[in-house]
Amino acid sequence: MRQYIFKKSTGLVISCCIFLFACDHNTGQQSVSLSVPGIKHSIKQTLDSVNASMSTYIPDSELSRLNQAAPHTWISISDPLFKVISEAQKISVLSDGAFDITVGPLVNLWGFGPVDQVNLPPPEARIKSLLENVGFKKLHLDNHKKLVMKDLPGIYIDLSAIAKGYAVDEVARVLENKYSIQNYMVEVGGEIHAHGINATANIWRIGIEKPVSNLRTVERVINLDNMAMATSGNYRNYIDIDGIRYSHAIDPHTGWPVKHHLASVTVLHPQCMVADAWATALLVSGPEAGLQMARRYGLDTLFIVNDNGSFREEVTGKFAQYFARD
Ligand code: ADP
Ligand code: MG
Repeated sequence: MRQYIFKKSTGLVISCCIFLFACDHNTGQQSVSLSVPGIKHSIKQTLDSVNASMSTYIPDSELSRLNQAAPHTWISISDPLFKVISEAQKISVLSDGAFDITVGPLVNLWGFGPVDQVNLPPPEARIKSLLENVGFKKLHLDNHKKLVMKDLPGIYIDLSAIAKGYAVDEVARVLENKYSIQNYMVEVGGEIHAHGINATANIWRIGIEKPVSNLRTVERVINLDNMAMATSGNYRNYIDIDGIRYSHAIDPHTGWPVKHHLASVTVLHPQCMVADAWATALLVSGPEAGLQMARRYGLDTLFIVNDNGSFREEVTGKFAQYFARD
């Protein structure tokens, strides 16, 4: 039976890792769907518009302009950007600040943003000073008028942990609403939404990688129908300084990459945006606090913990019901 395995994106450049998994090597339904006139163009337009709004890698994106805007002023932003920022803020509250889109200056300092990689851990004084600009409570939203206000000039928003999921939702919406396509799978940088059946007339089967950096092997296979899935891991995207691995998941309370033994978290949710953000939130929270949080909110998750080189799985909610059995 056909199954699909996605690598998590190593690049954090949203503009690079956004793509529709077009299954060119695939025959049947999926390819037929993509040959509908205009569909590729529509998808490209959708992704381009997400990037033009939410990428920090595009200097004149809406988000880049917001990041440069003056503090203490209400700024009007587009509906999509508002939607993503307000969902991010909700998850920040629920995750006790583990998820925080204002962590951007630290992401950049550690070399995971649209800047050069670093060779040394940054000086603690620099971390401390940038932390003054970090904190989701320093960002205010006016839900009615769709306005945003920053408390400090140095607040810099990074949507890398949620925008890919949002892009998946948007592409899925275009496929369904504009083209009435019911059988598809969309993937952007490792975040996925699958619906209906694949080319072999079966429910989509998606592989979750074993969280090891040098191999691409499957830990689990998931049956995914009308559901989104996102994974955040420490095993692919990290920097190596003097033999020590530093994760791209930054603890917004300390300004340091997380150091625990949680190798990856996979979250299932009807909205890929939500799955994406929670995967990062839980990864940052770590194996104990993260698991507690997932249970508290009834999230469907798979935690893979690295216990001295062997992997231990923990599932919450209904996750186990999605395991493919054969
Ligand atoms: P990927 O980018 O591999 O899909 P994630 O969805 O987990 O992985 O997003 C990780 C990215 O999110 C980091 O590279 C960084 O840009 C940003 N980030 C890091 N720490 C946090 C955090 N605590 N809260 C929100 N975003 C974060
Ligand atoms: Mg994420």
